[in-house]
Amino acid sequence: MEELLQEIDEPVASAHGVRLLLWRDDLAHPDLPGNKARKLKYNLAAAQQQGHHTLLTFGGAYSNHIAAVATAGRLFGFQTIGLIRGDDPAQGAALAELNPTLAQAAADGMALHYLDRSSYRRRSEPDFIDEQLARFGPVYVLPEGGTNALALRGCAELVAEIQARTDFDALAVAAGTGGTLAGLLTGLAGRQQAVGVAALKSGGFLRAEIDALTQQAMGQIYTNYALHTDYHFGGYAKNSAELLGFIEQFRARHGVLLDPIYTGKLLFGVLDLIRQGHFRRGSTVVAIHTGGLQAWAGWHARFGTSG
Ligand SMILES: *Cc1c(COP(=O)(O)O)cnc(C)c1O
Repeated sequence: MEELLQEIDEPVASAHGVRLLLWRDDLAHPDLPGNKARKLKYNLAAAQQQGHHTLLTFGGAYSNHIAAVATAGRLFGFQTIGLIRGDDPAQGAALAELNPTLAQAAADGMALHYLDRSSYRRRSEPDFIDEQLARFGPVYVLPEGGTNALALRGCAELVAEIQARTDFDALAVAAGTGGTLAGLLTGLAGRQQAVGVAALKSGGFLRAEIDALTQQAMGQIYTNYALHTDYHFGGYAKNSAELLGFIEQFRARHGVLLDPIYTGKLLFGVLDLIRQGHFRRGSTVVAIHTGGLQAWAGWHARFGTSG
């Protein structure tokens, strides 16, 4: 396996006396890398323990979580059901008609069903979950993005894995639901700083959600983190030439492909924060590449190969 911890030499970092490292969780497993796999680990164990044979979850049509659940089902012997936001592309669509994410999910054995926007909005309501249980029978339900208390536990393990290889002052990660950042906070237990870069425009809600997650999992709120909501580039999965240019440049300079939804924004944000003097001189910052590279196939299909 390639080295999981990579030095990122950038003039802006050396000018500010900051050592920047990249944790390559995108390389952690050939089929199931990144934070979505970490969030699944203890959920899969719980599903098994509870005697479940089927996982049911929710997501958008290009979701990394949907992709990960489908792959996990194939690798660990669960049937999987994906309730996808949006209209059915065609009743019983052939694989070729599905977008790359859903085509791969179907190939991994996931049964795909579609929810219109108003049904999808109810995805975390207990009544709605009951309706799904009545419809599909006994299934282990994973929430959208895979974020729950067990997911935090899987993400918390990253802290010890990084600590085993290097001392650091801060961990930086992209935030969607905030579950990964919340998990890192429980792993850090207040010792070092965490920095979250929001991928969505609605990042204003994130802090409360992260605090609710750690409260639920650990009975505690942590204050050793900063959340930055200025690097969403127009919002979730919005096409930005500036961001794509940065991703291209980062690949040329460091040989690392970032994804356009999360980790591209993270690295852009971290370098900008270094530029602004957010990290003190002499500190070591570990940015986490949480994976998500499956999204590129769908991105090219939507926006063309120039994207
Ligand atoms: C889902 C995802 C995130 C965000 O994780 P949350 O736990 O929802 O905050 C970050 N990076 C990648 C690549 C993801 O797929």
